[in-house]
Amino acid sequence: MSISRISKTWNLNNSFIYDNNMKNLPLKVDIVIFGGGIAGLWIFNRLRNAGYQAILLESHALGSGQTIKSQGIIHGGLKYALTGFLNASANAVEDMPKRWKDCLAGTGEIDLRSVNVLSHEQLLWSTGSLGSEIAGFFASKSLNSRVKKLDKRLYPSVLQNPSFKGHVYRLEEVVLDTVSLIDTLAKPHQDFIFKINPHEGYAFTIDPECKDKISSVEIRSGQETLSLQAERYLFTAGEGNEQLSLCLAHPPVMQRRPLQMLVAKFKTHYPFFGHCIDTGMNPRITITTHPTQDDQSVWYLGGQIAEDGVNRSPEKQIAIAKKELNSLLPWLEMETVEWRSFFINRAEPAQPGGKRPDSVSLTAIENVLVAWPTKLALSPLLADQVIAKLKQQAVQASSPSENVLRSCSILEKPRIALAVWDELFQ
Ligand SMILES: Cc1cc2nc3c(=O)[nH]c(=O)nc-3n(C[C@H](O)[C@H](O)[C@H](O)COP(=O)(O)OP(=O)(O)OC[C@H]3O[C@@H](n4cnc5c(N)ncnc54)[C@H](O)[C@@H]3O)c2cc1C
Repeated sequence: MSISRISKTWNLNNSFIYDNNMKNLPLKVDIVIFGGGIAGLWIFNRLRNAGYQAILLESHALGSGQTIKSQGIIHGGLKYALTGFLNASANAVEDMPKRWKDCLAGTGEIDLRSVNVLSHEQLLWSTGSLGSEIAGFFASKSLNSRVKKLDKRLYPSVLQNPSFKGHVYRLEEVVLDTVSLIDTLAKPHQDFIFKINPHEGYAFTIDPECKDKISSVEIRSGQETLSLQAERYLFTAGEGNEQLSLCLAHPPVMQRRPLQMLVAKFKTHYPFFGHCIDTGMNPRITITTHPTQDDQSVWYLGGQIAEDGVNRSPEKQIAIAKKELNSLLPWLEMETVEWRSFFINRAEPAQPGGKRPDSVSLTAIENVLVAWPTKLALSPLLADQVIAKLKQQAVQASSPSENVLRSCSILEKPRIALAVWDELFQ
């Protein structure tokens, strides 16, 4: 094993034309992970903690896809039960809050004690009379431990207005600061995380005998090239999985579900974490509150308004959001609020009719694993499935080798992505 400095010519398809006179000695590792969002970083930690020689390659900044732009809610599925029934989506995510809480307390599978918890609860609030069916459902035995009606004295300041006539329920669902989450996950094994150039920075060599099997990946950094050979190649690149999988003869099919999210920057700090519910299947609006780099705070708005906003101009979307907040919380001082919106895709395995997938997705194709968590909260479950798959495929952890760090030292290190509001209000 040694650093491979290869003489090859790059062609336009980002694959190699070999110079047969040169011998390529690839660096061998157990797992190469592509993509440093929540899925890649969570699995990377689990694999390294289990002794696997895993390295993670990120093409931009860590967390820069969906993860840092997510609302950071570790929900237990109740927002998927607004029809009054616990459906498959709600059941899949039910156990996740407890697993995350253990991690946040330092007693779980990954130590997340340095993560900034923005809120220990998420509220479900209704504007007026909540459908009696839903109220009854929340009060039902199955949900009694998970949803509590909140005493008026404990309402957040935003709802402490005599004009507020709705109901408020409390869910034990933490909301995390995603920048600190990515930072915490990247730290323990940071020596084994590297940056690759998204444009022509890497190329797969495919096994000539089997068009779904990767023989090696060649990574270019400046004038140098590193050849890596892994037992398994794991794609956790979110939307980037589509492009990565093109090297395979039978790639899994991906779908995108777009959103136009909103950010409202207040002069006054109104901490608020809640799903506004009415008769729809989805929360009408989901609000989380986040600190900004200039010591102010923003409300981050998702839910149905972000789904409905995908065909609107940013101006129209902002106008609708202002109107919506004015009708839901008319007593709130909104004159000085600054608004921004942005578009983002949720990247997932394709579903019939483009519907929301119920749970995580892991596809094994020869020596490639393609994974989508579909929700931040579900990453622990996805990691379980990856580890189970490796066991099933008898992929063993090999002995650590100093060569890995020496060889990879030609590669750059990725930074952690900025929070989206710090980018939008620069
Ligand atoms: C607006 C929004 C809000 C959300 N809110 C929540 C929420 O509150 N709770 C919840 O549970 N879920 C939420 N989700 C869903 C959740 O954010 C995603 O399911 C999850 O973050 C996906 O993580 P990922 O690691 O698969 O992908 P990503 O976070 O997209 O990360 C992929 C990474 O791969 C990198 N990459 C791309 N191409 C390559 C390549 N070729 N090589 C190497 N690296 C590459 C990217 O730069 C990126 O860093 C939300 C999603 C969105 C869009």
